Amino acid sequence: MHLPWFKIAPLDKGTRYTECVITPALDLPTINQTDNAIATKRVLLLKPRGFCAGVVRAIDIVQIALEKFGAPIYVRKEIVHNSYVVTDLAKKGAIFVNELDEVPEGARVIYSAHGVSPAVRQHAKERGLKVVDATCPLVTKVHVEAIKFAKQGYSLVLVGHRDHEEVEGTQGEAPDVTQVVSTLEEVAALVVPDPDKVAYLTQTTLSLDEARYMIEALKAKFPNIVGPHAQDICYATENRQVAVKNVAHGADLVLVVGSKNSSNSNRLVEVSKNLDTNSYLIDSADAIQPEWLEGVNTVAVTAGASAPEVLVKDVVEYLQTLGYGDVDEVEVMPENVRFGLPPEIVQAIASAPGALSSAR
Ligand code: SF4
Repeated sequence: MHLPWFKIAPLDKGTRYTECVITPALDLPTINQTDNAIATKRVLLLKPRGFCAGVVRAIDIVQIALEKFGAPIYVRKEIVHNSYVVTDLAKKGAIFVNELDEVPEGARVIYSAHGVSPAVRQHAKERGLKVVDATCPLVTKVHVEAIKFAKQGYSLVLVGHRDHEEVEGTQGEAPDVTQVVSTLEEVAALVVPDPDKVAYLTQTTLSLDEARYMIEALKAKFPNIVGPHAQDICYATENRQVAVKNVAHGADLVLVVGSKNSSNSNRLVEVSKNLDTNSYLIDSADAIQPEWLEGVNTVAVTAGASAPEVLVKDVVEYLQTLGYGDVDEVEVMPENVRFGLPPEIVQAIASAPGALSSAR
């Protein structure tokens, strides 16, 4: 359902979901927490939330590979940053490794949704590994941009978190000319061979606001800097943040279901806190602390792009046991994105039509 104070501008034919305009109405009802007559405990369930197209694709790849090729299937790094998903796939026979050295020569390995650098691809080749690439196509888009700018002679500035696997992979496309920046101080300290030949890219899961001020700072420092045609922050990251922005002011608390190492989930917590609505990142309902709910009437619940719906359901059911009886789903925008599977998996499915019977 739509709450009455949300208006969704219609999408033009062909408009990307990320470009739809959300217009908060001006007459936002005030929640009076001291008036028992109207202070109903309720849950606002944000939509879109949870799995994005890249995560669905990556999990499908592992599940189909397990079914078609049989266990063990090795996966480099966590396939997506969610402990529930990783544990579930490990139970089904996936073996998660940190580096390719841990994969027996000639075995099958899947790259995670966050992508890998060319050095990793080369390493796999040297070890004779059978590779299935589950890199999200929207991460691949950033890799392609990095290669293009580097070939054109640009110094590259990659805005992102340098310890994140996605950033390691993108930086690896052009390591000699790429500098990673996470703060305004790092932007100020940048030194490049030619200030008129600089390009920027960003991690796909940054906060929209953080990316905006970082890019503004880069433009101030390098007036001729160029960037990607379309922003690198992906549709799923943007849509989930926009949903929080539109609902946080009507809630007393925002709970974000997601794992600690999930970048886009952490950003959702930040977005809410920046709007002065308290927020916590929780792996599951078990993590909810009773004191968080003291004096709280309206709890907004969302989930990062790698968090499964079953965990959201558990959170809502737990809140219901605590008296949060009304659950309203707030759809801030439609989202219906799907990505195709990689050729190795398509071929595997084609060679045994019944192979999808138990895959999601
Ligand atoms: S969060 Fe965005 S970039 Fe990451 S897997 Fe999902 S769609 Fe792809």
